[in-house]
Amino acid sequence: MFSLDLSEEHHDLRDWVHGFATDVIRPAAAEWDEREKTPWPILQEAAKAGLYGSETMAGLWGDETGLSLPIAHEELFWGDGGIGMAIFGATLAVKWILAAGTADQIAEWTPQCYGDANEPRVAAFCPSEPHAGWDVSAMHHTRAVYHEASDEWVLTGEKTWVTNGGIAHVYVVQAVVDPSLGSRVQATFVIPAGTRGLQAGSPHRKHGLRAANTADVFLDDVRIPGANLLGGPESLVEQLVRAREERGRYGQDAMRAFELCWPVVAAQAVGIARAAYEYALDYAKHRVVCGRPFIENQSIAFTLADMKTEIDAARLLVWRAAWMDKTGEKFTAGEGSMAKLKAGRVAVWATERAMQILGEAGYSREYPVERMHRDAKIYGIVEGAEHIPQLVIARAVSGLPIK
Ligand SMILES: Cc1cc2nc3c(=O)[nH]c(=O)nc-3n(C[C@H](O)[C@H](O)[C@H](O)COP(=O)(O)OP(=O)(O)OC[C@H]3O[C@@H](n4cnc5c(N)ncnc54)[C@H](O)[C@@H]3O)c2cc1C
Repeated sequence: MFSLDLSEEHHDLRDWVHGFATDVIRPAAAEWDEREKTPWPILQEAAKAGLYGSETMAGLWGDETGLSLPIAHEELFWGDGGIGMAIFGATLAVKWILAAGTADQIAEWTPQCYGDANEPRVAAFCPSEPHAGWDVSAMHHTRAVYHEASDEWVLTGEKTWVTNGGIAHVYVVQAVVDPSLGSRVQATFVIPAGTRGLQAGSPHRKHGLRAANTADVFLDDVRIPGANLLGGPESLVEQLVRAREERGRYGQDAMRAFELCWPVVAAQAVGIARAAYEYALDYAKHRVVCGRPFIENQSIAFTLADMKTEIDAARLLVWRAAWMDKTGEKFTAGEGSMAKLKAGRVAVWATERAMQILGEAGYSREYPVERMHRDAKIYGIVEGAEHIPQLVIARAVSGLPIK
């Protein structure tokens, strides 16, 4: 049987997160965007409501349809992109711990990434390196060396533009362990904040998502126990052996791993696009120009029709990719990339159209749409700039190592 009906649990989840976004996130959005600070009181509210924490994450992650994560993220980011990213930032790290960690590592580290309602905490995921962009094959400057005598890993390098950098309680860091393989095998380590040698720079001043902290992270002979290697040594050895046997491939494995995160990131873009569309729809219905509601102009109504169509199309790509990932269907044509590419473009386009429909109000910081437009722009950049999903799709459909 084929059905696009959401289950009762999905409806309940959507309503619950939507309620939180309406009551708590939206009223605070402009303030935290102006302050350019992590909204700790909102994180605390989210933790109290049960929306921020390892149990919630486990529940969303455990949904066998794969839809709970994108549904929750669409609503969260419908509330506000910056606050949504402040809440979501830890999840990027947690998703990696869940995907790569052993059961013991998951049990140890996941709760520490969130803290609790009394003391919420955040985590940071750190693959990006300066001068590498999203070229995973160029991310090989952060090195990890194992010291058998002390059973310690020593990490040295620099990570750039890290969400929650400098304020995280837990850092999930990728590093090269065999330089002769370049970035083809990246081991992933968990580093607690306060570990000697780990430092962050000043927060970046950003165009959008300003309620989410972003900073560079420096690793200077950071020593961590052997147990902090995610997945354990046997799994790393297996990856190294496989990579040595398959020299000459183009980093598809690394890219595929990142691609699995993209449906959730794309769902965020859909949430921001939908927020702008709904705002513009409401505005056009109520603003009276030349004696009639603005929406009665066909060009306005048709723009809104296009916006709704594009947003729904993006969401369907997101749900397909999330469902494929969770049900073990392999991406064969870059389906995760399609979701990210489409949703990112739709978010930028729809928020810009919403500004146009609002006219001067769209350009004013008294209205939320210009903030949505600033926030939306990130989805063509973060987690792989626009050409990366294009590259993945092009390689998948052509079967060629397109560069
Ligand atoms: C707000 C924010 C939060 C972030 N959070 C994190 C985080 O938590 N963790 C983390 O590790 N990183 C994070 N990043 C880093 C982010 O993932 C990178 O910025 C992103 O991967 C793109 O890298 P880049 O900016 O160096 O772009 P580049 O790779 O330098 O690309 C620049 C532009 O050139 C285009 N381009 C590059 N190469 C090609 C090509 N071969 N063909 C066609 N076009 C090309 C790109 O599409 C892009 O438009 C964050 C970035 C931002 C802005």
